[in-house]
Amino acid sequence: MNLITRRQNKQQETTTVRVGDVIIGGPQLVVVAGPCAIESYEQLLSTALEIQRLGATMLRGGAYKPRTSPYSFRGKREGGLEMLAQIRELTGLPVVTEVMDARDIERVGEVADMFQIGSRNMQNYTLLTEIGKTKHPVLLKRGLAATIEEWIFAAEYIMSEGNDQVVLCERGIRTFETYTRNTVDITAIPALKELTHLPVFLDPSHGTGRWSLVKPVALAGIAAGADGLMIEVHPQPEIALSDGDQSLNFEHFAELMESVGPVAKAVGRELIFA
Ligand code: PEP
Ligand code: MN
Repeated sequence: MNLITRRQNKQQETTTVRVGDVIIGGPQLVVVAGPCAIESYEQLLSTALEIQRLGATMLRGGAYKPRTSPYSFRGKREGGLEMLAQIRELTGLPVVTEVMDARDIERVGEVADMFQIGSRNMQNYTLLTEIGKTKHPVLLKRGLAATIEEWIFAAEYIMSEGNDQVVLCERGIRTFETYTRNTVDITAIPALKELTHLPVFLDPSHGTGRWSLVKPVALAGIAAGADGLMIEVHPQPEIALSDGDQSLNFEHFAELMESVGPVAKAVGRELIFA
């Protein structure tokens, strides 16, 4: 079968995906950063300004949060989207946020420059099909226990509807290991580069579940050819309403950004500000 995602030959360039002024898949490495969940206007604004100052070019933040327990904080939903819209306007940063339900596509799409399809929804074929009918760029996370092939087919669901703006994001998979939240499959990055022409991101925050492991794994991802990183950053991770253990504070994010530049350069990529 001739898959739309399939790399035709070794020489084929990575497809570029444009999100506002940001180009994903080109020589420029793209860092997307922000809180796991939007908690308050001040939290999101202070994070947005800081990550922008440090060289991130896109803001992340969940308004609709898929949580393992229904009793955990599930996001500020509409209120979160409004904050995201205001801060997008104020900073000029393009934003990526998760859409969990096909019924929310229109509303989320009014604010989001890029849709995030979360790990838990990677095989929600109704959602993938409806997202495929939009023109919005999509960050498609790898399912918790998805093979590379299943993940590629998920991208095909979107692309076969006409939306070719898909970025794949490795975020770790379930293995027998319990020390880390997930096991980051670094191999998936070059494997996807061989198999597909799509840009590939790495999310070492969900991949490791531990903030102290985020920087080394992020650097490994860049060395392996990732086109960008998605990093969770919080002004005070110890009081975060979700994923505090894996979130970098501003100081640690600054340290990460300092290290990213030289590694990017070593593999022929660049990072603005670095
Ligand atoms: C997230 O990015 O906050 C998230 C929930 O990610 P994942 O779907 O990879 O678990
Ligand atoms: Mn998270």
